[in-house]
Amino acid sequence: MRIILRLIIITLLFESVLWGGEKKIPILCYHRFGNNLNDSMMIKTSEFAKQLAWLKTNNYSVISLDSAVKYLTGQIKTIPDKSVVITVDDGHKSIYYEMAPLIKQYRIPVTLFIYPSAISHTNYSLTWEQLRELENTKLFRVESHTYWHPNFKHEKKKLSPDEYAKFIDKQITGSKQMLEKKMGHEVKYLAWAFGIYDYELIVKAVQSGYVGALTIEQRHTAKSDTLMTLPRYMIMSIHDIKVFQKILNEDY
Ligand SMILES: [Zn+2]
Repeated sequence: MRIILRLIIITLLFESVLWGGEKKIPILCYHRFGNNLNDSMMIKTSEFAKQLAWLKTNNYSVISLDSAVKYLTGQIKTIPDKSVVITVDDGHKSIYYEMAPLIKQYRIPVTLFIYPSAISHTNYSLTWEQLRELENTKLFRVESHTYWHPNFKHEKKKLSPDEYAKFIDKQITGSKQMLEKKMGHEVKYLAWAFGIYDYELIVKAVQSGYVGALTIEQRHTAKSDTLMTLPRYMIMSIHDIKVFQKILNEDY
């Protein structure tokens, strides 16, 4: 009887060492910031300031996406207990004018998912100069969001198999190469445009050398997630501070 009890205790201890310490990480996905809400993907700058203050007061640590992935893959053994990752998609100019002052104040890491066709080309996008300036703070890091943000499902229906193969090469490999050339560093991560991915696209992303890719499936990420489909929470204008707290507490 005693031996059985001892075996059970040893098994439980072993399991707690293996699994008990595993942390789940919420990865947040923002788009635009401003004082007047023009669309649902925008959040008020004052609301974002409230969220950052709440994270700080509640002992959350904003860690870089790269640190989170290194933790998920076992390359680093430990991260702070309440870790969270901040990402922003699309490269809207409000990142520079509205978000960056707060990021500099709190000195926290942010990943920007950029589709290069828009940069320095549209009046609502950041410029290459601004992106370099943001990276020079050592707080921002540019990663890929495809080349021009296509809807892969629509394109696949429209194009022949050969045309589609060329198309995804441009969107996935071409975006990585362009951003690496413009920013002067390796681009390791990809955010799926509209959250759309399939097996063929994942294979292409792996072949292109991406280390990880992110979706917009609303849950915490864990070691059991595959690296090419890491979930993120979209944070939008409908998410007041109470909803934000629920998301962080995995109660959403
Ligand atoms: Zn996007």
